[in-house]
Amino acid sequence: MKVVIALGSNLGDREATLIDAINQLAAIITVVKVSTFHETAPVGGPEQPDYLNAVLIGESELEPTELLRKMQEIELAAGRQRIERWGARTLDLDLIAADDLVIESEFLTLPHPHAHERRFVLDPWLEIDSEAYLPGFGEVRLLH
Ligand code: AMP
Repeated sequence: MKVVIALGSNLGDREATLIDAINQLAAIITVVKVSTFHETAPVGGPEQPDYLNAVLIGESELEPTELLRKMQEIELAAGRQRIERWGARTLDLDLIAADDLVIESEFLTLPHPHAHERRFVLDPWLEIDSEAYLPGFGEVRLLH
């Protein structure tokens, strides 16, 4: 199935973190397209550094819940690396959409409940798919 994954990092070597994450994702899904990296101001939360965000489109043979579980392992691994190597460093991976699936479970909500209101997801996504569509919300280019 076609999957859309959003990546974000706002501590340490953000670019290296994102590249690392993309390489790890490529081991579990077929990566079709990756956006450029967008520098964005943090939305909400405590005061924190700017983010580097990207969106990836892939083809997955894994069930969405299994994919999210593996994405969380990649996040955790990036967290461990942080402690051992370059100091503070985070990686955020969100599953934005998987085909036209609508899922609402304790572990996984699809489409991602905040994707439609997050420019840092919508902009990179549109960059690699001008006809991007968010199930239940419509065409991404109209969501801006
Ligand atoms: P966060 O800390 O923002 O990365 O949120 C992670 C939590 O959101 C985990 O408990 C996930 O199970 C849950 N979650 C629900 N839907 C999604 C989704 N579409 N993508 C990523 N995490 C999700």
